[in-house]
Amino acid sequence: MKNKIALKLTLYFSAALLTFSIIIGGIFMSLFKKNAIESHKKDIESRGLAIAHTLSQLMDGSSLNVGKGMGSMGMGRGMHMQAGIGSYIRNLNTIAMADAWIVDEDLNILTTGTMAHMDYQYTDLPADADIVVKDVFKGRTSFSEGFSQLLDLPALTVGTPIESGGEIVGALLIHSPVKNIDTAINNGFKILVFSIVVALILSVILSWLLALTFTEPLKKMKELAVHLGKGEYKVKSKIKQNDEIGDLAATMDLLSERLNQASMEREKRNKERQDFISNISHELRTPVTVLRGSLEALNDGVIKDPKQVKEYYEQLLNESKGLERLVNDLLELSRLQNTDFTIEMEELNLSEILSDVCRSASNMARMKNIKLNYSNGAPFPFEGDYGRLRQMFLIVLDNAIKYSGENSNIYISLNSNKVIIKDEGIGISEENLPYIFDRYYRVETESKTGTGLGLTIAKQIALRHNIKLYAKSQLNKGTEFIFDFG
Ligand code: ADP
Repeated sequence: MKNKIALKLTLYFSAALLTFSIIIGGIFMSLFKKNAIESHKKDIESRGLAIAHTLSQLMDGSSLNVGKGMGSMGMGRGMHMQAGIGSYIRNLNTIAMADAWIVDEDLNILTTGTMAHMDYQYTDLPADADIVVKDVFKGRTSFSEGFSQLLDLPALTVGTPIESGGEIVGALLIHSPVKNIDTAINNGFKILVFSIVVALILSVILSWLLALTFTEPLKKMKELAVHLGKGEYKVKSKIKQNDEIGDLAATMDLLSERLNQASMEREKRNKERQDFISNISHELRTPVTVLRGSLEALNDGVIKDPKQVKEYYEQLLNESKGLERLVNDLLELSRLQNTDFTIEMEELNLSEILSDVCRSASNMARMKNIKLNYSNGAPFPFEGDYGRLRQMFLIVLDNAIKYSGENSNIYISLNSNKVIIKDEGIGISEENLPYIFDRYYRVETESKTGTGLGLTIAKQIALRHNIKLYAKSQLNKGTEFIFDFG
């Protein structure tokens, strides 16, 4: 199933929102109800107290004493009436803004707010009216919450004592329905449910959009991973985000970049290996063909002239020497390229090595009347392998002699961390210069001997010593090899 994360996120968000709404709604409703009842209570309590107070005052000023069961108003024992009290009682419901009763200690209804419903019974009073009345006759203001048979609604009843001559003569009960509170609560509940539904719809939309911001880059990264799995390393995620997902995408892009590099490197190495095999076959075949041809000629007795036979032997010797040199160079190179092959590092003086190299090359130089210009410079301490460094300089100096004309000069200098070997020879063209350090690379020149491996070996030795080796050259003017010791 697609977009599982989006679905999960939406569900989690909705469930969290719903739980939150139910808890908050519940707390809100109960607090609202409690608060509304409390303020309603306070309201009817203050009304009750004020009315009871007025009634007490009216009675205390009256000369009329209405005994128990006396008169059509049925005023209780000890309740005295003053002129005006009748009209006050008649309008009690209006004054109290609710149903108001006056009862005696035995729960006999003495009068009602309209003085009309004299036939009210005890059962018309709230269920716990007796407790309220008992409390009132103890001098307390008392409350009752419950269902009113009379109003057919949940109601609040407040009882306040009516006093006359310091004695409690009656209980004023104000009976008010909580109908409006329930309506308010119901309206509040409806608004709450509506808000929850709207919030849920919004949360579904928002969480879906939010989920897409996660799933879209994840999809792209999955596609990238599939491409990488197929060996297509040029693909990128194209995700630019400044967060953890962006970091992951950048890491995957880096991985793809590295894999691409590794793949190109592998292809290059494969090509090199193929070139190597074809080159080595070629390099070996030529001398072997010459050797075989000469040996066959000698063996068949085609060549009989002793002078010619000697020439053949000389050629055989030269070819086998060339073969030996080629095999030795190959071995040397493979050894140097093997990273496990350690070279001996010791404290040495470069100036000494250069003197040694010049001595070795002097014979060859003399044969072509080439002057080696090396002034023994200041000692240059360096850590390296004496034999290998000597071999490196000698390869370059041998080449300088080999590719220089007679009666020319070669300059060997050592200064400011650099060794320079400069000749006045045939030079190297611009297009050939970048390849001279490659294996078997040889510029086609008039039959100069060589394997094309010398500079490759020199470069390997330089690499193992962290020396930068490069060349500058101008065709027919000369070449300069620079060894930068850093
Ligand atoms: P080779 O055995 O052919 O000398 P190298 O690897 O030593 O092989 O050199 C590679 C090629 O670089 C040579 O074939 C030659 O064309 C060119 N080369 C090297 N040194 C010089 C130089 N001092 N002057 C001109 N060409 C040079």
